[in-house]
Amino acid sequence: MKYFSTRGYAARPEFCDILLDGLAPDGGLYLPETVPTICRDELDAWRHLPYAGLAFEILSKFITDIPADDLRDICARTYTADIYCHARAGDDPAQIAPLRWLEPGKLGLLALSNGPTLAFKDMAMQLLGNLFEYVLEKRGETINILGATSGDTGSAAEYAMRGKSRVKVFMLSPHGKMSAFQRAQMYSLADENIFNIAVTGMFDDAQDIVKAVSNDAAFKARHRIGVVNSINWARIAAQVVYYFHGYFAAASSNAQQVAFCVPTGNFGNIFAGHVARSMGLPIARLVLATNENDVLDEFFRTGVYRPRKASETHVTSSPSMDISKASNFERFVFDLVGRDPATVTRLWKEVDAGGAFDLSGMPFFVHLPGFGLVSGKSMHVDRLATIQEVHARYGVTIDPHTADAMKIAWQHAASLPADVPLLVLETAQAAKFADTLREALGCDPEIPADLQGLEALPQRVELMPPDVEAVKAFIAAKT
Ligand SMILES: *Cc1c(COP(=O)(O)O)cnc(C)c1O
Repeated sequence: MKYFSTRGYAARPEFCDILLDGLAPDGGLYLPETVPTICRDELDAWRHLPYAGLAFEILSKFITDIPADDLRDICARTYTADIYCHARAGDDPAQIAPLRWLEPGKLGLLALSNGPTLAFKDMAMQLLGNLFEYVLEKRGETINILGATSGDTGSAAEYAMRGKSRVKVFMLSPHGKMSAFQRAQMYSLADENIFNIAVTGMFDDAQDIVKAVSNDAAFKARHRIGVVNSINWARIAAQVVYYFHGYFAAASSNAQQVAFCVPTGNFGNIFAGHVARSMGLPIARLVLATNENDVLDEFFRTGVYRPRKASETHVTSSPSMDISKASNFERFVFDLVGRDPATVTRLWKEVDAGGAFDLSGMPFFVHLPGFGLVSGKSMHVDRLATIQEVHARYGVTIDPHTADAMKIAWQHAASLPADVPLLVLETAQAAKFADTLREALGCDPEIPADLQGLEALPQRVELMPPDVEAVKAFIAAKT
């Protein structure tokens, strides 16, 4: 499988090249040249595979430059019940991403947050850690990973890369914007290859720094900079797997359709759902939920994409979605405009200059229902009410991000055919967001036994202004 970019870069690299690369040289995002399609026989053959086996089958469609036996081994080492060990009582940890019905056959939670950092980012990042190690070893290279996190990517990347000898991690986070537990997860890591940088700004400032450094080709080459943000294609590919897994768990036969509701920030998770559907998975609808930062909800209602400035971004109680510039959205728009790099380049010229674009008058926007994506927006009060209601109705404690999705899922459930189950993607565990859970339920969320006491450990973090040169100097000094 060869890759090209949403803006037309066409040197046709393969997976292992773009794995270490992040952004394409033209500033676009990598995509496979063709979307592999799945035939009915394959779906039937995959239905009963364990998670690691399913991951191998799907990933081998996108990764053709790693020998099959090696890829199979990487998947088998990544998706184990030992790593995804935080399954809740009653859920089967061997499932890796267990489906928990709230209303049997109608509404379910797909638990994606059983990994080391209690958020769905682990589902892809654990794989990336092992892929990086494998490819770097083969090539005799090292890499310095630069990332920006709104809360969960950072810890997932650090837990995936800690102790790996050929990898250093430089992770930017917005100072004071993450929950105490999220901070403790990252800043308490003592591994020598992990560097935490708290930027006095918003997540989007941190993400802009990563983009600026990535766009400096000379610096990037000299310091062997790699990127693990959700623009990294390998993460999307890994996330495609759990849509298939969730589908098989929810649909009693491959003739049935399933809908998914996804709490969204950078459009990575839900874009993986779009890819799964493009491959032929019978997904009836993708439902997108935003929090107060509703740039994407605005687009799906109006056709206008107007990223906000950092100063217009709200700090909310679902912090991992406090994003006003959804990087992966460029990949979706690429499909929407008929996979035309010239149009994408033109649209993002507007966006990158601080502007907006409006697709409402264009024929493909009129046909958007064919893309089967609807949206909604959930606010702090909704989040609290939803956490309370899910707890009261089903005896289940959900985190604030999952609550945003649940609220929008309820809104859209009635418009689905009766035989289409709706799965809400559970993107984090409540333990990560004690303040909000206390506000909603009046008590602390349960913390898994192996993570109790985390917040009391000593922390290590570098405080910095949102300044590209300062970050570059820091990286240069440490590499
Ligand atoms: C990252 C994250 C999201 C948003 O996912 P995207 O792929 O950026 O859309 C939602 N919920 C949680 C808990 C997250 O960590």
